Amino acid sequence: MKSKITFIVGSDSKHTQKFMDHQTNVDLGERGVPILAPKLEIHEEDFMASGSNEEASSQISSLVDSLDIDPDDKQEILYGIARSVRSALRVAAKHAAAGEKSREWMVKLGLRLETTYWWKDMVPASNGSISGLEKGRVVEFSDEDFHEEKSCCICFKEFQEDGLVKRMPCSHIFDDKCIDEWLSKSRYCPICRYEMPPSLCLISPREDLC
Ligand SMILES: [Zn+2]
Ligand SMILES: [Zn+2]
Repeated sequence: MKSKITFIVGSDSKHTQKFMDHQTNVDLGERGVPILAPKLEIHEEDFMASGSNEEASSQISSLVDSLDIDPDDKQEILYGIARSVRSALRVAAKHAAAGEKSREWMVKLGLRLETTYWWKDMVPASNGSISGLEKGRVVEFSDEDFHEEKSCCICFKEFQEDGLVKRMPCSHIFDDKCIDEWLSKSRYCPICRYEMPPSLCLISPREDLC
């Protein structure tokens, strides 16, 4: 009995990550992340001999650890993979018992994972939506544009005639720098909570969803 079984995580394996805003239950979008896992090589004797399957277990664990998922889900996946490993080994053992020479087996694992991530803190506005805001000098806007507001409601300082301001789509105007800083932390208008498009860049710098 010297069969070797190699498990390969199929290239069609995918981890669907869904993002939800904890405060508003708003769906922030989802994306599919390919699962890149190392090859899992399991030697029959390692797994079967005297119940010692430490090597196999540690290989499966490290594969599962490389996935960015809930620890509870990891346990479930661990069992799932261990089950396929065991059944593949049983098939290999049956062939060996039938007098077949040892051989190498290749098993493809197709993983389909789905995780919902709850974004607990404030979600920033996307860079594109911030840089796309209407910008101008205070004098270029009318009192009506300012809704009779004489000062920036973020820093409470009075608007200066030559000061740079930005107008949000909800029509509220703020100091240029103040609103940039605000939106880089929260995507909601500080006055009316108008919602700017969310930035998911902070969740993972690997992929740019802005
Ligand atoms: Zn301000
Ligand atoms: Zn507003």
